[in-house]
Amino acid sequence: ASSRASESEELAARVAELRRRIEEANYQYYVLDNPTLTDAEYDQLMQELRRIEEEHPELQTPDSPTQRVGAAPLPEVRQHRHPVPMLSLANARSEEELQAWHRRAQNILPNATFEYVCELKIDGLAMALTYEQGRLTVGATRGDGLVGEDWTPNVRTIRSIPQRLRDANPPPRVEVRGEIYMTIESFEKLNASLTREKLFANPRNAAAGSLRQKDPRITAERNLDFFGYQIGYIEGRNLSTHWEALQLIAEWGFPVNPHNRRARDLDEVLQYCREWEQKRFELPYEIDGVVIKINDLAQQQELGYVGREPRWAIAFKYPPIQVATRLLDIRINI
Ligand code: NAD
Repeated sequence: ASSRASESEELAARVAELRRRIEEANYQYYVLDNPTLTDAEYDQLMQELRRIEEEHPELQTPDSPTQRVGAAPLPEVRQHRHPVPMLSLANARSEEELQAWHRRAQNILPNATFEYVCELKIDGLAMALTYEQGRLTVGATRGDGLVGEDWTPNVRTIRSIPQRLRDANPPPRVEVRGEIYMTIESFEKLNASLTREKLFANPRNAAAGSLRQKDPRITAERNLDFFGYQIGYIEGRNLSTHWEALQLIAEWGFPVNPHNRRARDLDEVLQYCREWEQKRFELPYEIDGVVIKINDLAQQQELGYVGREPRWAIAFKYPPIQVATRLLDIRINI
């Protein structure tokens, strides 16, 4: 019995250690925009913690990093409570995991035929834009998923984000979601102009750091860009597919990624994923994978969520070659 006691003590200590390291990495990544681990290292810690918590439910706690989307918002910045939570995405790291995701959805809706939308997973930060009577009123980050940070004045400096929707009869209220990102070219120019201590590790952190500036004039100089990828909610209009939502977003005047594609079955999804694994290095911005969404919004609703992740979407992640070498480059420069 005493050896079992010490075993469970060891496990509890490991859980505490993992949580401490993940919390620290979250703070560095989400709050300081200055990651100290590669994404692969981070994901490994998360995976181990998830596995232990699953096998030992007695070790689960509501404040565990596995239960949260990101970091809590900064206290000084105005907070924005999301009317519809901004959640995360489950990951697939192999084609088998993607197939397993498809089978789970098919098991829940055995008679359904799924159509998919494949989108490049732009490596930036998620943004929720509220438009009232067609005018931009709030631009907020995801934060912990329920409450984000209101950075509206800074968001207004991003040229590709419309201040007004191009719509003679706009919905009374709509939330357009998308990714704020920085091109590789702008990222390299920015780093060339910064002192060593202030260098950003990658375009994603440069985008987040440039948005979250006390002085919006600095944000304005940083060349941030935007792709719309979802409607969080819309009043007064009914949409039936995600593809339709993407078209509406484009009509309103937002950049929508031109490489988005519909797929009739999982084979076409896999083809898209394979194609972009090669071609991603030709893009002017970084992607870390492909997001696959079930197109039919009624099916999305039926599938719902498990924890903080929708069952109707998944991120197919590419191996993180680029991030690791970038961090290494910076270390070498120092
Ligand atoms: P995620 O980044 O894997 O996926 C969700 C995000 O994808 C969304 O919030 C959105 O911003 C983005 N996205 C891009 N294109 C999209 C599209 N077309 N449709 C929908 N969403 C799209 O998950 P997460 O919860 O945001 O972050 C967790 C990840 O962050 C980890 O897997 C890890 O790689 C990284 N991380 C790293 C560290 C570190 O120290 N290196 C720390 C914390 C988190």
